[in-house]
Amino acid sequence: MSVETQKETLGFQTEVKQLLHLMIHSLYSNKEIFLRELISNASDAVDKLRFEALSKPEWLEGGAELKIRVSFDKDAKTVTIEDNGIGMSREDAITHLGTIAKSGTADFMKNLTGDQKKDSHLIGQFGVGFYSAFIVADQVEVFTRRAGLDASEGVHWASKGEGEFEIATVDKAERGTRIVLHLKDAEDEFADGWRLRNIVKKYSDHIALPIELPKEQAAAEGEEAPAQEWEVVNRASALWTRPRTEIKDEEYQEFYKHIGHDYENPLSWSHNKVEGKLEYSSLLYVPARAPFDLYQREAPKGLKLYVQRVFVMDQAESFLPLYLRFIKGVVDSNDLSLNVSREILQKDPIIDSMKSALTKRVLDMLEKLAKNEPEQYKGFWKNFGQVMKEGPAEDFANKEKIAGLLRFASTQGDDGEQVVSLAEYLARAKEGQDKIYYLTGETYAQVKNSPHLEVFRKKGIEVLLLTDRIDEWLMSYLNEFDGKSFVDVARGDLDLGNLDSEEEKKEAEEVAKSKEGLVERIKASLGDAVSEVRVSHRLTDSPAILAIGEQDLGMQMRQILEASGQKVPDSKPIFEFNPAHPLIEKLDGEQSEERFGDLSHILFDQAALAAGDSLKDPAAYVRRLNKLLVELSV
Ligand code: ADP
Ligand code: MG
Repeated sequence: MSVETQKETLGFQTEVKQLLHLMIHSLYSNKEIFLRELISNASDAVDKLRFEALSKPEWLEGGAELKIRVSFDKDAKTVTIEDNGIGMSREDAITHLGTIAKSGTADFMKNLTGDQKKDSHLIGQFGVGFYSAFIVADQVEVFTRRAGLDASEGVHWASKGEGEFEIATVDKAERGTRIVLHLKDAEDEFADGWRLRNIVKKYSDHIALPIELPKEQAAAEGEEAPAQEWEVVNRASALWTRPRTEIKDEEYQEFYKHIGHDYENPLSWSHNKVEGKLEYSSLLYVPARAPFDLYQREAPKGLKLYVQRVFVMDQAESFLPLYLRFIKGVVDSNDLSLNVSREILQKDPIIDSMKSALTKRVLDMLEKLAKNEPEQYKGFWKNFGQVMKEGPAEDFANKEKIAGLLRFASTQGDDGEQVVSLAEYLARAKEGQDKIYYLTGETYAQVKNSPHLEVFRKKGIEVLLLTDRIDEWLMSYLNEFDGKSFVDVARGDLDLGNLDSEEEKKEAEEVAKSKEGLVERIKASLGDAVSEVRVSHRLTDSPAILAIGEQDLGMQMRQILEASGQKVPDSKPIFEFNPAHPLIEKLDGEQSEERFGDLSHILFDQAALAAGDSLKDPAAYVRRLNKLLVELSV
């Protein structure tokens, strides 16, 4: 035992304490994953060393083979995981093993409910990492030394997982990290060669460096125990370099969990090798669930980049567009240089062509998922639909392909679930229908009951109902799909084209003519509040409706701009009325100009309310309405 100096006791960050508590109490059903996490860290540490050693070969300290060793002591009830990777300095150990540096940790903690079942699921999404050691151990010791530091700058870190840890400086001859788990009494089954071997095979077969366990050997009677021999128990080759046909689904899944820091299996993956002008392999995964920080700016995005099997960087975001930021995976290039940096990646034309190829692969993979596993795709859409909707604006070249992947709620459903594809919509469109109709709004209830849908309901025409905040913006980028243009049913002078018969058109014209007087009267009464007044052919049941001008901003866009403090150009709605409605007939026959004014204003305000808009002068509306109510009751 070497001498300890500069010993101190430090407290864990609050979040770590919470996480530890939670983990110990909620991950009891899958305890063995601690080994996967620790091996995963060891493998990351070796990757980092390999990369750093490209420019600092002396860090290899003579160049022993890079590997991970897992051993155990049945009597002492310990399991030890050792690597000769990059190691940690004292500072490293304090920050990396005492805090959680992940972005959004606080958010994550806020999401915890206290309900163990739900929380253990959340924890799965968060990735438990090093602290999972405390699922099986009541004391954890870490001996580590950072590559490039002197043997006297080793570190001994120890904790019982109860709020604090001890740290001291010790001698450590070998670079790298050794983690000793002092198993809880009830967990001593893990101090067993057979058990450990099975766990390694199960979770870590894909790790690209040798994982060794002690060879089982019995000392012969009366002889001294022979020197320890080791044997490699995993396959130890980078998964993505092997031929697709030789890789089992479980292997793909375990590899995903390793690189994706996820506990759940992915929904789908796509593994490819490209040869020719550019040479690279890619393995891309669609996760089953959105990470809790999908919408945070600083959240991790991008793929792991390898150059000729050497790990170069995490989160190489230049390989996929932002709207595909949830995709996990690796890219291994033969063309890039090993000392490539983020800045170079951003400019390199090789990357551009890789990016478009990888983007296409992901979109193809999603298409396939949608086609072959519609139920799974539903889940995908629930989790990632909002992000996919950023696609058409960001990725012009793939607009049509992305549009094909979008899913919407529509008047054909009754629960607002986003399940209708554009292809499906067109497949059941009415004869002669050459447009895709949609309506945007604040909530599903609001659009579902919107008067704008009356004529569509009457004619049995499906309308897509868009209520995500991003929808109006999305639609401003989608002009057409499959040659059919999109039409906002609340906008402009609704032209149903062939869907209206000649008779209907003629009749509408006649009605419009006969109501010219009323139009003028309303115009005079509403004055500046409207840009136009006209007879509607959208309505069957409601008396009046507000339409948006062809070029004007819709309500969602207006609200978004206003919320971001921008000046929104003034636009006035078009007031359309339903000449067949009894209230309009009453209005038409109204002799008192005062009463005419009140009623037309009430109709105007009601139309605004039905569209989900707020009233400019709600008190005036209430006053007018009450006046009428009083008259009614006398
Ligand atoms: P993650 O692996 O997601 O970063 P972990 O909780 O698993 O989170 O590990 C926290 C950090 O501790 C790692 O990022 C790394 O910096 C450090 N670490 C853990 N294990 C090792 C190791 N074997 N060698 C070097 N550093 C390690
Ligand atoms: Mg880890």
